[in-house]
Amino acid sequence: MEYLKKLYLESIGIDYLPRPVPVPDRELVEKDPEFDTLEQLREEMGDCRRCQLSEGRTNIVFGVGNPHADLVFVGEAPGRDEDIKGEPFVGQAGQLLTRIIEAMGLTRKDVYICNVIKCRPPENRDPLPLEIEMCEPYLEEQLNVIKPRAICALGSFASQTLLKSEVRISRLRGQFRDYKGIPLMPTYHPSFLLRNPHAKREVWEDIKKLMELLDLPRPDDA
Ligand code: URA
Repeated sequence: MEYLKKLYLESIGIDYLPRPVPVPDRELVEKDPEFDTLEQLREEMGDCRRCQLSEGRTNIVFGVGNPHADLVFVGEAPGRDEDIKGEPFVGQAGQLLTRIIEAMGLTRKDVYICNVIKCRPPENRDPLPLEIEMCEPYLEEQLNVIKPRAICALGSFASQTLLKSEVRISRLRGQFRDYKGIPLMPTYHPSFLLRNPHAKREVWEDIKKLMELLDLPRPDDA
């Protein structure tokens, strides 16, 4: 019932009410990395019940790939396929992301892939501010532990959350931004590309900038 009330308030634009709910674990983010490894962080997360998304999830979708990756891709939240498999970006959008990674001359095992939100929102709705507040410290700590040389934020949700910005993705993309000293390239989300294939050219421009930054050899057609 509380949850429905919150959804209703969100739908009419009210997302800030004084509420006696748990506050996020700020210790997770305000200190130096508290965890040496992603496994330790995953263990700390346990069977997370910090927000209501835990009620409908099948699996927590923590992240996959190289824990020492130079490049981390950050998406929004798991969808149906990801929830079932417990792995980010395994559905149609994920297959497109895999092709982008391969076009960079890399594999999914070379990079790290995760989301801002670790549990699937019902019907793939947008995550609520409270859910972001509860989950974001885990993403911040993942990035603290991995210390990548670059981050690629996929879509407006990941870009705006990481950059604490309300600027639209069409204006954010294409230029490196700063995330705690790490260059972050915002670009369009693969799901957007599935609906708007003409935007693939802009994404490829963004990806080429990442490749240059990471000293990756450019394919002949780049
Ligand atoms: N979209 C996302 O943002 N993340 C996933 O893991 C899958 C689809």
